[in-house]
Amino acid sequence: MNEDPVSEARNSGISPRLFAQRIKAVLWDKEIAISRLRLPVVLVASLIGLALFLELGFHAQGFYIGDVLSAKQISTFANVASLNISSFDPVLVGALVAATVLRVVFGIAVGIADVVFYKRITGQDFDYDAMVNLAIVNMIFLLTAIFTFMNPWFMALLEHYQTWVERIPTVVETHGVVAIALACLIGDFCFYWSHRWCHKLRFFWTLGHINHHRSHKLTQVTQAMDPQAFLLDTAGGKVFALLLLPPLVKLFASDLSTGGWALVAVLLIDTWLNPSHSTTLYYLELRSRYLRALRLIFVMPGVHFTHHSREAHMNISDGCNFGARFTLWDRLFKTYCEPPPYIPEAGLFSENADYIRTPLRFIAHPYVKLYLELKGNRLGHWPKIMFGPTSYNPPNKVNMES
Ligand SMILES: [Zn+2]
Ligand SMILES: [Zn+2]
Repeated sequence: MNEDPVSEARNSGISPRLFAQRIKAVLWDKEIAISRLRLPVVLVASLIGLALFLELGFHAQGFYIGDVLSAKQISTFANVASLNISSFDPVLVGALVAATVLRVVFGIAVGIADVVFYKRITGQDFDYDAMVNLAIVNMIFLLTAIFTFMNPWFMALLEHYQTWVERIPTVVETHGVVAIALACLIGDFCFYWSHRWCHKLRFFWTLGHINHHRSHKLTQVTQAMDPQAFLLDTAGGKVFALLLLPPLVKLFASDLSTGGWALVAVLLIDTWLNPSHSTTLYYLELRSRYLRALRLIFVMPGVHFTHHSREAHMNISDGCNFGARFTLWDRLFKTYCEPPPYIPEAGLFSENADYIRTPLRFIAHPYVKLYLELKGNRLGHWPKIMFGPTSYNPPNKVNMES
């Protein structure tokens, strides 16, 4: 008869408590460092290669390139169902497909460049441990997103959404180019505020966004997704673009076919802006005043990288640079911070902030901390623990790294 691990531990003389402690020591406390595991070089190289492959496959959308080439509809930016390729000029269709492929290929190239040039740019070793850990973390987040989409309840909601978009009236009839530009501006406004609230409110910060800000040695392939990013991401994400941009575009134009070339322009702009955690692109920005001048309008990679900085003076309003595509909203609401003339260290502000140790700890840490805070404090403090500002600390503080 097979025994469960707890009774097995008891029979072999180890108490369940000790057994649990040992499991915790391996999966939670111990920092996973490939170099210390003493694995054969081939295995280490394969592990690193696999992590890089997965990161670039999903993050830079490398796995979807076949879909793009064989697609009958363009669903790269606005995901407007009526935007059928057959109704477009073939030259424009070619340009849309080429721009989409370019965006993916460029994203992959930037990811690889970050690994290759990291040491030369920053003087520090590239963090392979973080990349392997984060590949696992990001896969888990992606799987949860995939399961959400497979949920029949969610699918039904999306179907309702489609019919809802079709019923949206066009308030002001403009040229397709204007409609897309307006939709991008308003979409970015929504991103700006939802992102800012993610930093301001404990609920959003603790339940997800904190994870996106943990990486110390930030690069395009050592960034963590956060589950909420699927709802926030106007810059390249699928869900937000799928849900928000089509109604926004529809408000300003009933016929999008006149705006096709604006979509190409947006795709080309996104090609440069999407790898927004890249040290290589930040480095290029530092060397080119023309790239720096573009910060006046766009959230260049250096601008978003500064959003990840852990230097206190950049913490203008529980962070800075919350925009995704345009710097306009940060400038208007006084949260814009000019990127420094060097690449700042990224990560959380707190000195004893938790770093990437194990995938389990990385994902579960904020939830465990929240649970202990609720458990250790009276009911009256619960609303503030859940929904208070991120700077709030309950009377009985939890003694865990943040
Ligand atoms: Zn953020
Ligand atoms: Zn980021």
